[in-house]
Amino acid sequence: MTANCILERVSETKSTNDDLLIRWRAGELIDPVARIAHKQTAGKGRAGRTWLANPEDSLCFSLAFPFKRRPAELSGLSLLVGLAVIAGISQACDLSEAALHAAGLHLKWPNDLLLNNNKLGGILIEGGQAKADDPTWMIIGVGINLRNPEAIEANLDAGVKASSLSQITKTLPDVEYLWLKLIASLENHLTEFDLHGFKSCKDSWMKWDAYQNKPVCISGTGKDPIYGIAKGVDETGALLLQQDNKTIAIHAGDVSLRIQS
Ligand code: ATP
Repeated sequence: MTANCILERVSETKSTNDDLLIRWRAGELIDPVARIAHKQTAGKGRAGRTWLANPEDSLCFSLAFPFKRRPAELSGLSLLVGLAVIAGISQACDLSEAALHAAGLHLKWPNDLLLNNNKLGGILIEGGQAKADDPTWMIIGVGINLRNPEAIEANLDAGVKASSLSQITKTLPDVEYLWLKLIASLENHLTEFDLHGFKSCKDSWMKWDAYQNKPVCISGTGKDPIYGIAKGVDETGALLLQQDNKTIAIHAGDVSLRIQS
């Protein structure tokens, strides 16, 4: 079900997110566009970080999607995208979501897919509303490691662990098939999200939460690290941290969540 989505395949680009961002800023986007690159040479993470991809071992694409909601009403979007990616993987791999969960697939607030605590995929969301009455265009980048996580890991900072879809299933789906399933799932989830927001997805997200009830640390707020016990998310997708006798909400920004060491 990709009837309303333009599909673009390129052999090489720096960043599929940047490609679509440029077109959004130039006012060129009308319908949703999904753009996949065989080789992405300058993939982006959040806050200027890098997303690494090896052409034969990675799936990297971006989807530009127009929302009726204003940017301020999109809280929880990166969490919802995580759920959509899991549903797409489930369909493409012909594995139930319960089987994926049992294999160790989880979501790390606010934007990562983890497999047994090692990073399987990343989500980067950019965009906005150019002017009042325009749709809010969000460019949703998804990177998933398909195989050979060791090759990726060799180029990551020491201690950062990567995982791959091949560690869940020996028979990896064809990349094109996986991509189409992911787009279909994203389109369904994003359309629902535009109507109802994150609230109705909160309980589903909690089932995939990698850090539920774990002692964690939040850094990157420009202030001292914030410590607490992770208690899932609220109806806006904010992370709930229990501290002594109070619970505080952390809103997604450029903050990093880590298990307390
Ligand atoms: P944090 O882990 O601090 O929350 P993040 O999850 O937001 O950061 P992103 O910006 O989404 O991180 O992703 C970039 C980071 O992911 C890089 O700094 C690197 O550590 C790691 N990384 C980059 N490419 C890959 C990859 N292919 N597989 C696994 N991890 C990767």
